[in-house]
Amino acid sequence: MKDKIVVALGGNALGKTPEEQLKLVKDTAKPIVDLIQHGHQVVLAHGNGPQVGMINLAMDLASKTPDATPEMPFPECGAMSQGYIGYHLQNAIREELLSRSIDKHVATVVTQVIVDKDDSAFQNPTKPIGAFYTEEESKKLIAEKKYVMVEDAGRGYRRVVPSPLPIDVAEKEIVKTLVDNDHIVITVGGGGIPVVVEGNQLIGVPAVIDKDFASAKIAEILDADYLIILTAVEKVAINFGKENEKWLEKLTLDEAEQYIQEGHFAPGSMLPKVRAAMMFAGSKKGRKALITSLEKAEDGIEGRTGTLIVNE
Ligand code: ADP
Ligand code: MG
Repeated sequence: MKDKIVVALGGNALGKTPEEQLKLVKDTAKPIVDLIQHGHQVVLAHGNGPQVGMINLAMDLASKTPDATPEMPFPECGAMSQGYIGYHLQNAIREELLSRSIDKHVATVVTQVIVDKDDSAFQNPTKPIGAFYTEEESKKLIAEKKYVMVEDAGRGYRRVVPSPLPIDVAEKEIVKTLVDNDHIVITVGGGGIPVVVEGNQLIGVPAVIDKDFASAKIAEILDADYLIILTAVEKVAINFGKENEKWLEKLTLDEAEQYIQEGHFAPGSMLPKVRAAMMFAGSKKGRKALITSLEKAEDGIEGRTGTLIVNE
């Protein structure tokens, strides 16, 4: 047995429409199945920004039509997105496995991720979701639904939801069992459905857990060797996009912290990846995190490219 790897897929692995997604997942499946073919145990996580946005918006619009459908709460939209993405992704992987005569099975687990109801993120919602509204409409939503609304770069008003940190994964024992039995699991899609614990109940909350953090959490829980965050860039850079841009091969936790303090990583994109990589690599000696592009996953795991974040 080689490494146990949690792979976090970014937006570029899935696209934005059903047609695009169906096509892209076929390409996505190839580097994933390469890893499986080389003996690695692979667990998949993925983002859901455009997909949950689409579902949420569609549900919102449909609830305003004459033959209105019921209003759909945000956690339910997240659950729908996990099913929709998982359905395409698991079939693409299944097909790729069959085409290589690899006798393995793949399934998606609808996954809830537990957050702390006292997480300070709940006091400071930051993630914009859904449609744009006028000022009047926005005031009505604040009064009627207690939404937090912000003006979004001159384009109108938008609902914002908190982005709390993941604490635990509700279905972890199921995921563990499947992984231990050599099945391929798609889990914590879109960062997981955020829930808080109340007695015996798990209660969905309107929030978005960063998929990079949720992937680091499930990697920790599964005692993975590697967390691989696959995105649109082959490596992490300092002075990104500037003349003195420098692509990094390896980052220690101290170096990563220093570069964060110096503001090298964009808050909505690269920063959560570097932070998630640090969380995982820092959680136990020997754990490694790699940030690279989808196409370079295999090269990355063999040490030929990507940015490796290590605990040394
Ligand atoms: P994903 O959908 O995979 O989460 P994001 O767009 O959220 O992708 O984050 C990846 C993007 O972060 C890259 O495509 C790149 O444009 C951007 N980025 C910001 N800062 C950096 C940096 N310092 N080094 C590399 N990429 C960076
Ligand atoms: Mg992202």
